[in-house]
Amino acid sequence: MTDDTKPLMDWDEFADMGARVAAWGARYHRQIADLPVRAPLDPGAVRARFPDSPPEQGAGLEGILAEIDDKIIPGLTHWQHPRFFAYFPSNATPPSMLADFVASILAQQCMLWQTSPAGTEVETLMLDWLRQGLGLPKGFHGVIQDSASSATLAAVLTMRERALNWAGNAQGLGGQARLRVYASDEVHTSVDRAIWVAGIGGDNLVRIPTRGPLRAMDPDALRAAIRADRAAGYLPAGVIACTGGTGTGACDDLTQVLAVARDEGLYSHVDAAWAGAAMICPEFRFLWEGIDGADSLVLNPHKWMGVNFDFSAHFLRDPEPLVKTLAISPEYLRTHGKDGFVNYSEWSVPLGRRFRALKLWFVLRAYGLDGLRGVMRDHVGWSVALAEDLRADPRFEIVTEPVLSLFTFALRDADDDAMLAYVNAINEDGRIYVTQGRTGGRIVVRFQVGTFATTQADVRLAGAVLKAFAG
Ligand SMILES: *Cc1c(COP(=O)(O)O)cnc(C)c1O
Repeated sequence: MTDDTKPLMDWDEFADMGARVAAWGARYHRQIADLPVRAPLDPGAVRARFPDSPPEQGAGLEGILAEIDDKIIPGLTHWQHPRFFAYFPSNATPPSMLADFVASILAQQCMLWQTSPAGTEVETLMLDWLRQGLGLPKGFHGVIQDSASSATLAAVLTMRERALNWAGNAQGLGGQARLRVYASDEVHTSVDRAIWVAGIGGDNLVRIPTRGPLRAMDPDALRAAIRADRAAGYLPAGVIACTGGTGTGACDDLTQVLAVARDEGLYSHVDAAWAGAAMICPEFRFLWEGIDGADSLVLNPHKWMGVNFDFSAHFLRDPEPLVKTLAISPEYLRTHGKDGFVNYSEWSVPLGRRFRALKLWFVLRAYGLDGLRGVMRDHVGWSVALAEDLRADPRFEIVTEPVLSLFTFALRDADDDAMLAYVNAINEDGRIYVTQGRTGGRIVVRFQVGTFATTQADVRLAGAVLKAFAG
């Protein structure tokens, strides 16, 4: 039985704790630059700070913030740290955090128009604002997915069903023609997983060789592979291109690749998860020239646009094949969108959906597109300047040139072991955090600038640390 002197829903405690959490959050962010970017811990150290069994008696929330300071903060890799240059950015700006709090308070389930009219209509509008900001033509429809991986899975399922004339969902894949999907080696591993999960099989993900400084898929090789497969009895289903591959920022020539997909009757999906956000700056749009020809594309405002995780923007030239693949309710299919009702759960694998559109609304309202452009332009400029600085030092070799704010480099003449030792020494130092990658058969350091808290001084300090450990 619950204790009736302490209600389960204690809104006074909520109001008090909410204000204290906000103050605590501001304090965390004010001192984050003094913490090591990556927790200097052994596995199990966080777990060891907790009791083995759950409490039998509730004790309210008093004291929990102190416990976070003791037990949690020392076990964090600080993604919002101004000297986080690893992986890719995952920004959480104050407006997006507040919007997420509001979304939690409202606790909407936005699966159908009628389960949250505001959730649905604001989602439609925010994605259309984003479409305009990115310079995508009218006619692209957007939906929020939880991650780029989910958007890519939805696109791969659509390729599969479209190629099978929607027989796969009903009959399964046994007895169907063997499907083929085409991509370069530069695409993210979420593509491999989408292919596995969709039942297409990793062996049927055909890797097309790349060429040129942007490591772009060779369109002639793509066409040849599709035709050879068709002649051999396979069923080509789709092409997945990338703008800003995760490893080195590879960009396919979308004009050429999407033309091949269209000529061959294949569905196309473009993964621009990281780089796509930068397309709000017109001067970067050359990297995805030809995007208008994509059937499906994904980008992550939850990486570089200041919208906290999770928020992937999935745009479709025509939502019909996707909805036909994922919608459960057949009568809905006949009217979707046309009567003003959009049921976004029919556009994604999960049914339940949060009111994530609030996050983009808050961010756009707080910063405006121009505020966001300024941040990205700074990041690109600082990163390019650091690449030039390293290039001028004979100890370094730029391995892949900057694509937006991402470049890779190596120590001249260092073998893989020496490179790993170099990366480990830098990260154990704690002032900056970088990750290694593998390109052209060798280990490189991947360096990207993308955290909103980063300043030019932080990037200069990163250069000093990279040099200090270079021997
Ligand atoms: C980060 C990234 C992904 C995965 O994004 P999630 O939203 O975490 O699924 C996919 N593709 C590219 C190019 C990425 O950079």
